[in-house]
Formats: sequence, C-alpha cells, structure tokens
Amino acid sequence: MAVSALPFRENVSLKPYNTFGIEATARYFLELEEEAQLFALLKNPLFKQERVLWLGGGSNLLLTGHFPGLVVRVALRGRSLTPLSEEEVLLEASAGENWHELTCFARQKKLGGIENLSLIPGQVGTAPVQNIGAYGVELKDVFHSLQAFDLVQGHFVTFRKAACQFAYRNSIFKQAGKGRYLITRLVLRLRKPPHQLHLNYGSLQAEVTRRKETPTIDTVAEAVIAIRRAKLPDPAQVGNSGSFFKNPVVTASVHQDLHARFPEIKAFALPDGRYKLAAGWLIESAGWKGYRRGDAGVHPRQALVLVNYGAAKGTDIAALAEEIASSVFRTFGVRLEAEVNII
Ligand SMILES: Cc1cc2nc3c(=O)[nH]c(=O)nc-3n(C[C@H](O)[C@H](O)[C@H](O)COP(=O)(O)OP(=O)(O)OC[C@H]3O[C@@H](n4cnc5c(N)ncnc54)[C@H](O)[C@@H]3O)c2cc1C
Repeated sequence: MAVSALPFRENVSLKPYNTFGIEATARYFLELEEEAQLFALLKNPLFKQERVLWLGGGSNLLLTGHFPGLVVRVALRGRSLTPLSEEEVLLEASAGENWHELTCFARQKKLGGIENLSLIPGQVGTAPVQNIGAYGVELKDVFHSLQAFDLVQGHFVTFRKAACQFAYRNSIFKQAGKGRYLITRLVLRLRKPPHQLHLNYGSLQAEVTRRKETPTIDTVAEAVIAIRRAKLPDPAQVGNSGSFFKNPVVTASVHQDLHARFPEIKAFALPDGRYKLAAGWLIESAGWKGYRRGDAGVHPRQALVLVNYGAAKGTDIAALAEEIASSVFRTFGVRLEAEVNII
C-alpha cells in the first residue's frame, strides 16, 4: 500500500544495503532519486512522525535491530566537469554516485587528487560525513564545496570548506549537523597534469617503488587497490564495515608513557605535537586478532576490522566491540571510539 505519491515500500530487508550483511528490516523504505522529492518528503506525515535513517552505501554503519521508522536510500545520480583554471577542474557529483567509480572517472579524465582514495566503499554524498581518508590523503584535501538540503528549514544550502569543520574522520555532518543536513552534491577541486602525487604513506611508497615505473595517478591508484585487496576483507565475501574504531589521538606525554611501557607501540606524530596511535596494534596486542564468537569476530589479518561470518546480529558485533574497547582501556588506558555509526 502506497502511503502517498512518494514510492514508499514497507517491511524491506536491509541486508543487501549494509556491508556488514546484518539482517534487519525497515518499517518504511524510500529510494530518493530526485532532489525535488525532498520538498514532498518534508511535508509527508511519515517523515514528520517516524524516525528517519539516511542510507548511502551502508558501508559505515552497524544495524543493531529492525528499524522501526523510515529508511531513505539516497539514489541521486549525475556528474559533471567545469574548468576552474589552467591547472584545475571542478568535478561535481550527486550524492548517490559510487565513490570508487568517481575515482575511476577522474583517472579516465587524467585528473589528479583522489587516486589515493580508490576503492573506498560507499557513496559520494557520504564521503564528507567522516572526511574519508586513506594512504595520506583525506577528502578535505580536494574539497571545494557541497550542496546539502537543510531538513529543518526546507531549502538547499552550500557549504564551503571551513563550514564543514573537517577533522580526522569527522565533520559537522557527524556532529552538530547530524540529522539536519542531507548532502545532495559534492564538488571536488582536481588537478590537471602535471600531477602532485602523495606518496608519503609507508606501504604505498613501498608498493609504488616495487613497480619500478615513473609513478602516475594510475600507478598510485593501482598500488592502493592492490594493497587494499591484500589487506582488507571484501564485504562481498565476509561482512564488515572497514575499520571499526578510529585511531585514538593522545598527548605527547601519554605517548611517552605508553612508549616506555610498550616500546613496540605503533604511533604517528601529528603536526600539532600529539600522537595518533594505531588502533589495530592496540587491539592485536590486547589479544583480539582472529577472535571469533559465533558469527561475530575480529578479522585474522586486520585486527581493526570486525566481521560478520554469516548470521551475526548487530547486537553481537556491538557487544564484541564494547568488550574490545574495555580490554584495550584496561591494558593501555586508552579509549577507543567507534568510527562506524551504530544505529
Ligand atoms: C572494506 C571497507 C573499507 C573501508 N575503508 C575506508 C577507508 O580507507 N577510509 C575511510 O574513511 N572509510 C573507509 N570505510 C568506511 C566507509 O567506506 C566510508 O565511511 C564511506 O564514506 C561510507 O559511505 P556509505 O555511503 O556506505 O555510508 P553509509 O554507511 O550509508 O552512511 C554513513 C553515515 O552517513 C549518513 N548518511 C548517508 N548518506 C548521507 C548523505 N547523503 N548526507 C548526510 N548523511 C548521510 C548515514 O545516515 C550514516 O550515519 C571502509 C568501509 C569498508 C566496508
């Protein structure tokens, strides 16, 4: 039964829509295919009365039960290029475009800037939410602006970089703007050749060097893809959401103390004097790597990745995550914070 002119569906399984492969049902479900639908949605009684979950590629969330309200899957499509200067081009893409496909499109057009972010799952509109990052590059490095729909005021707004408050795996859209702004379009500032390559990240540098060719954006993208395929489990094979926890950031004195007690601790010095600790190392050192209870587990090759071997419930994964965080705190005195959105 249609609830209104918008094509709502009822009791829809969310299993195909989350990379953890958790079985959960949405009471109401809508595919948002046009920006104009947002005006009708805002007036709709379902939107006004029910809890709403915006869904992209479902690769950064853990569903801990059936969703009693309305799930809106963002399916806005389209992309375009606009020259900005002799050196730069603006690439605009709608929120429902696939992120990795966008990186491939940029490479085809010989535009540099997002090659290090190849193969990150998810959609374009979600990339700013946690300021996606990998192999020494973050979204903020190529960000120009975005368009969002203000769900409180009922109109579109443009965000420039400063307003997004980008930080490590964070932005205003994960904090004060959460639930208020739906990102509908993203504009990136990409470079024409000659490209500035970002090869500072250790494993990337080693992989590019191993290839014995003058590096290009294609070399970097292919190296990143090779490393990711070797290191990270493919959600199509085993359910997961990538890194479950953020790498904790600590003061220099806390790092000094930890280093004295655990000389092998893996940490990266930050420009502001603090240190980012490798959460994977903390979890592995606390003895969790490869741990499995029922169908919930810690990946045997990558301790930062929690996995669903088949029939785990979201609550099984969430309980395991809590146990891991408590055990890391007991061992190292460091608090782990989830990177994944727990719903
Ligand atoms: C194997 C694997 C590897 C990964 N590697 C990385 C990595 O290297 N670096 C990294 O940063 N991340 C990584 N991730 C995490 C994930 O891919 C990114 O966070 C991605 O941007 C999530 O996109 P999504 O569309 O799947 O988001 P979803 O999981 O669908 O949504 C994430 C959050 O954003 C909200 N949301 C969805 N759409 C919108 C919108 N249009 N506007 C506003 N809010 C919205 C949702 O309600 C939810 O709270 C990885 C995940 C996996 C499974």
